[in-house]
Amino acid sequence: MMIKIQNYIDGKLIPPASGEHLENINPALGKVYSYIPDSDTSDVQAAVKAAQAAFDQWSTSSIQERAAVMNKIADLIDRDANKLAKAESIDNGKPISLASKVDIPRASSNLRFYASAIQQFSSESHQPDDRYLNYTTRKAVGVAGCISPWNLPLYLFTWKIAPALAAGNTVVAKPSEITPMTAFLFSQLCIEAGLPSGVLNVVHGLGGKVGQAIAEHPDIPIISFTGGTETGKQIARTAAPMFKKLSLELGGKNPNIIFADCDFKKALATTVNSSFSNQGQICLCGSRIFVERPIYQKFLDEFVFKVKNLNVGDPTSNDTQLGAVVSESHMKKVLSYIDLAREEGGEVVAGGKRVVLDGDCKDGYFIQPTVITGLSPTCRTNQEEIFGPVVTIMPFDKEEEVVSYANSTPYGLAATIWSENLKRAHRVAELVKSGIIWVNCWLIRDLRTPFGGMKQSGVGREGGLEALRFFTEAKNICIDLK
Ligand code: NDP
Repeated sequence: MMIKIQNYIDGKLIPPASGEHLENINPALGKVYSYIPDSDTSDVQAAVKAAQAAFDQWSTSSIQERAAVMNKIADLIDRDANKLAKAESIDNGKPISLASKVDIPRASSNLRFYASAIQQFSSESHQPDDRYLNYTTRKAVGVAGCISPWNLPLYLFTWKIAPALAAGNTVVAKPSEITPMTAFLFSQLCIEAGLPSGVLNVVHGLGGKVGQAIAEHPDIPIISFTGGTETGKQIARTAAPMFKKLSLELGGKNPNIIFADCDFKKALATTVNSSFSNQGQICLCGSRIFVERPIYQKFLDEFVFKVKNLNVGDPTSNDTQLGAVVSESHMKKVLSYIDLAREEGGEVVAGGKRVVLDGDCKDGYFIQPTVITGLSPTCRTNQEEIFGPVVTIMPFDKEEEVVSYANSTPYGLAATIWSENLKRAHRVAELVKSGIIWVNCWLIRDLRTPFGGMKQSGVGREGGLEALRFFTEAKNICIDLK
């Protein structure tokens, strides 16, 4: 019997109102392995009703009470870490080692972090003279809509709901229909932890149905979305005229800028990692690598050598470094970009093809880690988000030149800069238009820092107090003291 995932509405696990289900595919096997509710507006409506009914009590509960139940859920995630990591690896195709080291520990950290952060959160008071006193209160906004993508399923799902819940909102959440499993297991843990009914509701199903119903629901005044830029535009078109609060974390086309005076070994090893972790399906992965000409050929040769030795295989095997990409349609999209790169005059110097494995994974969606050279920074391959195991490498001669290449896309999420000359690193970091810059490192995350992108990579910032400010409504009260 295959698992039938259920919605989590008003504290209960229930099937969708329609009774219809969608197939959930294991991307490493290319086979259906469970079913997902094909929910619609009526399920979203039931979830909103439950969230509204729970709001008064949850939003006025003490911060210690909220923190206690969030910490309890985090404890349960830690208890079930192996089970959740395996589920994430099967659902998404990512190597189990990555799910165990990154995705699942981060999910429990997200809950613990915001359980603690809400207890440090303070509001302001301003006194212009001895007569008037202003003080500002920050209260939960209401029912929050949280819509998350497939690339880091439980990691990003909890990254949204944790600050929303800590701040006292109740939530209607929609995980990606492509990777619903860990959000379902998470619902079970919420019940076990004693999260009051209706505080969190999880509605599974298609983006165009469930996601759209959340975006347009008049009783959801605030939406936090992570996903593609086109979907972000659609949500903004729907939500902006309703004056909803919006946080949009969108796509990227991140540059890696590697100067000749870098720590070569470290830059090389980290760039392999930042290119191909999670099959290149992390919004923070670098996909355009610019290398200063004096070390270009050496970097290219050693990079290609390392990439050709990466182990693409069954995600549930411990020595796999690249698993499957998330779906057949995504595989086709990524492969079509490799064809486009060839048409644009690029040379594929590593990878470039689908990988057909032996045994159980023979029909899985695997792609060789791919390196392309010989392209101009302005071609489509270098301008559009591919979101797969594909990078381009290009030489540069001057600092101003590489800054203009880095800034030449419509995106501005993240960038890495590699140089032992810190004056230069600071200078370039100032000029690159990205919300997140790593100098001589990558993916070091302090949850207190602002997280998000510029230009078409998003609107607003997540992380730390930024998220708590987003999920609260400020009210200033001014008193005449005389
Ligand atoms: P999508 O934009 O396709 O989907 C994101 C979520 O939105 C999914 O839950 C999806 O549901 C849902 N959705 C789809 N259509 C609508 C709609 N009309 N209204 C409301 N919700 C909708 O993104 P992906 O899941 O493909 O994720 C990959 C993208 O996410 C990449 O562009 C990546 O760069 C970006 N991303 C950005 C991050 C950041 O922090 N800036 C972090 C991680 C990823 P369904 O899956 O069921 O269609």
